[in-house]
Amino acid sequence: MTQTSAQTTHYVPADLPTSIRHFIGGQFVDSVNGETFDVLDPVSNQTYATAAAGQQADIARAVAAAKDAFDNGPWPRMLPRARARVLHRIADAVEAQDARLAELETFDTGLPITQALGQAQRAAENFRFFADLIVAQADDTYKVPGRQINYVNRKPVGVAGLITPWNTPFMLESWKLAPALASGCTVVLKPAEFTPLSASLWAEIFRTAGVPDGVFNLVNGIGEEAGAALVKHPDVPLISFTGETTTGQTIYRNCAANLKGMSMELGGKSPAVVFADADLDAAIDSTLFGVFSLNGERCTASSRILVERSIYDDFCARYAARAASIVVGDPHDPQTEVGALVHPEHYAKVMSYVEIGKTEGRLLAGGGRPEGLTEGNYVSPTVFADVAPTARIFQEEIFGPVVAITPFETDAEALALANGVKYGLAAYLWTTDLTRAHNFAQAVDAGMVWLNSHNVRDLRTPFGGVKASGLGHEGGYRSIDFYTNSQAVHITLAPVHTPRFGAH
Ligand code: NAD
Repeated sequence: MTQTSAQTTHYVPADLPTSIRHFIGGQFVDSVNGETFDVLDPVSNQTYATAAAGQQADIARAVAAAKDAFDNGPWPRMLPRARARVLHRIADAVEAQDARLAELETFDTGLPITQALGQAQRAAENFRFFADLIVAQADDTYKVPGRQINYVNRKPVGVAGLITPWNTPFMLESWKLAPALASGCTVVLKPAEFTPLSASLWAEIFRTAGVPDGVFNLVNGIGEEAGAALVKHPDVPLISFTGETTTGQTIYRNCAANLKGMSMELGGKSPAVVFADADLDAAIDSTLFGVFSLNGERCTASSRILVERSIYDDFCARYAARAASIVVGDPHDPQTEVGALVHPEHYAKVMSYVEIGKTEGRLLAGGGRPEGLTEGNYVSPTVFADVAPTARIFQEEIFGPVVAITPFETDAEALALANGVKYGLAAYLWTTDLTRAHNFAQAVDAGMVWLNSHNVRDLRTPFGGVKASGLGHEGGYRSIDFYTNSQAVHITLAPVHTPRFGAH
């Protein structure tokens, strides 16, 4: 039976705002037409605030402010060291208020507080990392002895449109804001409508750190309205998007008219492949964390576990026993391991997959709402075994605490199962056989592979997916590449042979 945490009263942080506004050109503002939308917390599912609902007119104001700051302001022209100092001050401010950030994020998203704290610290680290990277940035030069020197003149692209999802919102915003600002771009951020609370904190953090007005602009709103207006705005030359694959496809189409630069971090259905020679204790710990951390609302979740037949029964029994002991409950309770799903709509979606799973697999743990938690978007960590590769719970991203386990006999079968979905974000391999590990890693359709680990990422490495999981890579200098244009300047050192047209 699922464990529930001891805390029963609903924790509400002090000084919660009741209205969440846009931030444009250094000012908090309402929508031009005064429209708002309701924001719920996922434990009571009651409205705790209204947020300004941005429309085309609000996006137009924000883009105009960002364009003016880009064309006429100091930010794109500052020395890298000067921008880096500001970015470090942002990181300091995020670190200094990590507990407050975590409590607000937990309240808004339902993420367990200990995990939200880790995400706040990671957000600070993103700013430090890109501050250091731009100071150390070296660009290529190419020498053609006696004839030419060619060099790369790296230039910020302009106004970057940043569109982010509701899972770990603050951290994912930092993942785009830090490299965009480090590169000298100005930005318009459109955060997810389910979770606008933590994004509003950036305004004060940036202002205090010395980011000039107009460099950072925030427009809240519904994706199809504010998001779509940002994507279609002609003065926004690039869009960095993280979210669902189907939304990515819509954005892709809408970017086409202006041939925008795009970075797409999309959905996943990532396999963890456990071979019989693996360290089983470590594999069980890691694959439990891999799918049930962040409430299972994690793009890189190991939501399919493929297990070699000879250890399958043992693995399933041990895995299910542990899943049944996971503590589900109030996200603010530090004992909680799985909190409340972000929104009743998402809760209904995940619950519908739990019911589908009961017809497609053998239910080993969970399967519904935990006993004793009558309100809030709580789902028991749910484990299905014997899931066929044709099953919907094997193929489709559920984005909740639900995992499908499937047996395999051979390496070839494991690879076919791993690759047999439309997604290709991450893969996790559990084996002590080096040759198998490398051969499998290189053959699997995944943008990122971890050997004998869950997702632990060095910020220098490429981040991104293949197939329906994304387009382009960010991470390290690849993010700087995305937010800058590399202009080639060719310098002539000697007379150039020129065919003399018209000189006959
Ligand atoms: P979503 O696609 O519904 O929304 C993401 C953002 O896009 C929101 O801000 C939303 O308002 C906006 N949006 C919606 N329609 C739009 C439109 N027509 N034009 C412009 N913007 C629009 O995704 P979500 O439900 O918020 O997030 C969960 C999804 O994000 C999952 O699929 C998950 O795998 C994915 N995700 C991917 C990564 C990654 O790095 N690959 C990381 C985190 C989450």
